[in-house]
Amino acid sequence: MNCEIIAVGSEMLTPQRVDTNSLWLTDQLNTLGVEVTAKAIVGDDRARLADVLRGSLRRADLVLLSGGLGPTEDDITRDSVAEVLGRGQHFRPELLEAIAQRFRQLRRSMAENNKRQAYLIEGAEALANPRGTAPGQWIATADGRFIVLLPGPPHEIKDMYTEQIRPRLRQILPALHIGLRQFRVAGMGESDLDQLIAPVYMQYSQIATTVLAKPGDIQIHLRARMAHAAAAEAMLDELAAKIEELLGTRIYSRDGADLETSVGRLLAARGATVSVAESCTGGMLGQRFTSTPGSSAYFVGGFLTYTNAMKQALLGVKAELLAQHSAVSEQAAAAMARGAREHTGSSYALSVTGYAGPDGGTEQDPVGTIYLGLATPDGEAEVRRLQMIPGRERVRQMGATAALDMLRKRLIS
Ligand code: ATP
Ligand code: MG
Repeated sequence: MNCEIIAVGSEMLTPQRVDTNSLWLTDQLNTLGVEVTAKAIVGDDRARLADVLRGSLRRADLVLLSGGLGPTEDDITRDSVAEVLGRGQHFRPELLEAIAQRFRQLRRSMAENNKRQAYLIEGAEALANPRGTAPGQWIATADGRFIVLLPGPPHEIKDMYTEQIRPRLRQILPALHIGLRQFRVAGMGESDLDQLIAPVYMQYSQIATTVLAKPGDIQIHLRARMAHAAAAEAMLDELAAKIEELLGTRIYSRDGADLETSVGRLLAARGATVSVAESCTGGMLGQRFTSTPGSSAYFVGGFLTYTNAMKQALLGVKAELLAQHSAVSEQAAAAMARGAREHTGSSYALSVTGYAGPDGGTEQDPVGTIYLGLATPDGEAEVRRLQMIPGRERVRQMGATAALDMLRKRLIS
């Protein structure tokens, strides 16, 4: 079954608003094995929407529309869909009663034009909207397609989809088993990774493989839709094992956990703690560690030392060291990490110092150079130098990611 989604609303044709409903719906539909083959955004214009909908109905088995079910003149979705189907609309007192009750709950008076929301397209089933006023509508067309009208507000869509639309979709979909596997990988570029694993996953035409990349962090999703659950799972296991063999310890999670959470689990399992000393990442490492609930079990805190004076005052980095080697150097990274570990008493400490750009850098260490330090329980400090393609945000993000991965590698070694 293939599906098209139409987001209705002129505000989403401006730079200020984004159509997020279709992203959420796509994720939901994919897990049912429904593929989204096209999407559109249409302003509040009845004729244009009718035109776009006619196109979708030529191509797709299922068309989901969101927005434009409100009570005002510019809410045109109901009228437009009725026009395309050549069906009338009927006033339903029980729908008006549900809307009126919603207003009573909110202790607000209902406007006369809310009556518009109580009209149902001929042959449609109403979908209750406990989170808002406009009911949704589920319509089966004469030629075996389905049209679903959803409200615009994202929180209203979620409940309506889960409670009313998903069960209906399950009934009309062939009973297919959907098996999923995922890997998250750090410390590797997207094209290097794809070159390595593509020859393997290309042999599995029944498994859809997606590779999603952020700087320094890649997700691999494997999805198999088959009539026989056992066959799908066995095939996924086979491909997953081959990918594991190729990527080895570069895989940091198999359950979707992000890098900071994965590192946190390793620390917690060892009863170890970590602190951070950051320069060019300006707190990103601390932000990432603390984004994981429960991180207080292993993250003790950190130092945001942007200037040389702060590196000296808070971390005890020697002025002579900075004068001789500069703040962006192996020596500075090691001293920062050691200083953080000594001052906090944590088992490990990570440091990041570098040239994020666009200005700065030296001939030896141009913009995009980062030094990472890792102070370890034996009192030593490891250092790594990274050279990245310039781009301030990218360099900072990859620096933080590489630091987390450096600790991860140490913990599993
Ligand atoms: P209402 O009864 O609230 O008027 P409606 O069904 O007419 O509901 P809209 O007026 O189109 O919905 O949108 C209501 C709100 O939901 C607006 O804030 C709008 O920006 C937001 N919204 C609408 N469509 C989307 C979408 N596709 N993605 C994200 N937000 C959306
Ligand atoms: Mg509206």
